[in-house]
Order: sequence, then C-alpha cells, then structure tokens
Amino acid sequence: MQTARLYYDDPYLINFTARIIQTLPIGEKYGLVLDRTAFYPESGGQPSDTGHIGGIPVLHVTEENGQIRHMVERLPCGTAVECSIDWQRRLDHMQQHTGQHIVSACFASLYNGDTDSFHLGRDSVSIEINLDRFDVDMAVRVETMANEIAVKNLPVTAEIVDDMRLQIMPLRKRPSVADNIRVVQIQGFDYSPCGGTHVGHTGEVGLIRLKKWEKCKGGYRFQFVCGSRALADYRLQDSITRLLCDQLSVRDFEIKAAMEKLMTDYKAAQKELAAVKQELLAYEADRLLKESRTVNGIRVVSKAFDGRNINDLKLLAQSIIQQPGHAALLVCRNDAVQVIFSRSEDVDLDMSRLIKAVFPIINGKGGGSPKAAQGGGSNTAAVEDFLSAALLEIEKGL
Ligand SMILES: [Zn+2]
Repeated sequence: MQTARLYYDDPYLINFTARIIQTLPIGEKYGLVLDRTAFYPESGGQPSDTGHIGGIPVLHVTEENGQIRHMVERLPCGTAVECSIDWQRRLDHMQQHTGQHIVSACFASLYNGDTDSFHLGRDSVSIEINLDRFDVDMAVRVETMANEIAVKNLPVTAEIVDDMRLQIMPLRKRPSVADNIRVVQIQGFDYSPCGGTHVGHTGEVGLIRLKKWEKCKGGYRFQFVCGSRALADYRLQDSITRLLCDQLSVRDFEIKAAMEKLMTDYKAAQKELAAVKQELLAYEADRLLKESRTVNGIRVVSKAFDGRNINDLKLLAQSIIQQPGHAALLVCRNDAVQVIFSRSEDVDLDMSRLIKAVFPIINGKGGGSPKAAQGGGSNTAAVEDFLSAALLEIEKGL
C-alpha cells in the first residue's frame, strides 16, 4: 500500500491523523510507514520535515523505493496516531524552496542561466547556475526582479499534468521523472516540475537576497536567503555594522572611508615596524658576533631564544652569516623547538648533515642545503644538549 502524500495537496496541513501500517527496525531506530502523511521526505535538495507521531519526536523522514519512512527512537502506543509537523521548519523550507523557483526563473529569464542543482541546508541555501560570467550589476538585476515577483504576490499552485498539456507548457526545465509529472506554477511567470513544498503566494517568500557567489564547475554557485532567513541575515549584518561603527567611531555610511584610511595607516605602520625591527636585529647580530667562539676555525654563534619568532631568527642568522667565516646555530624554544642552521659562503661545513646528525636529541625533523638547514623538534628540555652536540660535531670536523 502506497502512503498518501498529503503535502502535495496542502502544504499548510500540519496536524493530521494516520494509521501505522508498518514498523521497520533500522539500526537503533525505527522507520514508521503510515497510510497517509503530511511529512515531507528528504528529496530534490529539500530536507525532510520533523515533528511528532503519537507524541514521539520524528527525527528524519526518508524515501526508499517509494516508501516513506518516519524515523523515531521509540514506538508510539497503538497504530492510530495523531501527527504534527514542526511548522517553523516547514515554513522556512517552503520560503526558501519557492524563493529558489523565483531566483532560478530570474536567472533563466535575464541571462539564459539554467539551474543545475539546488541545496537547502540548515545554514545556507545554494543553487548552481550555468553561466559564463557574473558580476555585481547582474546580481542587482536578479535580486530586483526576484523581489518584484515576491511583491506581486502571484499565486503558486501545483498539479499533476498529463502529457498533452505538458507538451504545450513553457517548462523552465525538463522533468526528471517519466510519470505523474507534478508542475509547480508561479502564475504567468514560471512552470517547473517539482515534488517539493511551496508557499501559496509569492509574497509569503518575503525578502529575497543573493548573498554571495563563487565560480564552480560549469558556472557559478550562489548562496541566497529568503523570508525569515533574510531577516536573520539582516540582523547579523546590522550587528556587524554597529560593531564597526563603535570600533571606528563613525556613522555607518562612513565605514568604507574609515576602513580604507585604517588599512593605509596599518600598512604604513607595518612598513615602519619592519624597518625598526631590521635595525634592532642588526644591533642584536653585532652583539651575538662579539659573543661568537671559534670552533675548528669557524666563528660560531650558537644560541637558544625563548618566546621569539622563527622569522626574526632567520633574519638574525642572515645578518650573522654576511660576515665571512661564520656559522649561526639558532634555536627558538616555545611550545616546540624550531631550529635554523646557516653559514657564510666561504665556510666548509654541511649544515644539512650537521642538523640531521643532532636532530634525534630534540626528536627533530628537517633538512635543507649545505649552506642552510632548518626544522623542528618536540623535546624542549634538550635544547642545550642539542646545541652542545652540534658544536662538538663541528669540532670533530663533521
Ligand atoms: Zn519546488
């Protein structure tokens, strides 16, 4: 026996009675099959409804080979059951899904863009449209047209259409099934085969907002929001605007100019900081050169630093090895150990071999060239032993 699909005729029906005609144990849960249902099973890019059957929460509704299964964790009492649909969730799906028909029809009408796929998720709604190019002006046109259709409050109806009528209908896309083709019509605007749930009039979709787009295989993927999601999105954007106004001490229309100034100032400050840092590192390198010791004819600077940035140590090492006859063995010790070994051009010492010879002491890994090598290790307690061992290797004439 096929379950009667009540949502086809009345997507606003949220309370109904039904009879359980089959109970399928599925893993730790049960799949209830009813004689009639208003629960929409996940399909065609639209998630399933949730709600209650006989007071037991319905977690998910699936369709397997035409059989609609209502997934529950416990079985309700008896077979005649009162059922209810979570209306907020259903209305949200109806708004987003009808919004998708409108947006897809606008893309088709304005730019001949076909909709390749539709996904209605909890956090985002997306469609993929077959387009060669897209820009902000096109987005404004699509959004404007979509919202005009919403404001016109056109009736949205659905009916099973026979082959004869199907031939003459201006369908936006071909049906994906062969029999019982259900066509959703937005009066005088769009005709599309679809099995989902939709609002009765386009006005119920509310505001339609294209949020963002990115290139994808064969076109562009668009994210959009409708109705209650558009309101939630507006509130989010508004809170961000307020935060920026507070932080920048400006009014909303001044944010753009304030941000541009801030970024210019920031870049200049970064540049200045880099120059000052370079100068400081040069002083530090001078001091370290004075502390260097001769090992096997090479002036070696070996030192461990706590809480320093490895990039600073790289600059420091570069400064040191500009002098002929020098080697720098520098270690940066934070939560882990980072190491940089490098030498002047004229020094005969293979830094890659040296670092590999002593790395086991700090459980390290890494490598490089004879002139410079680097890597990291985990044993922060063995850093002093690590450096002593490296000096010993140099002394031995590695
Ligand atoms: Zn639809």
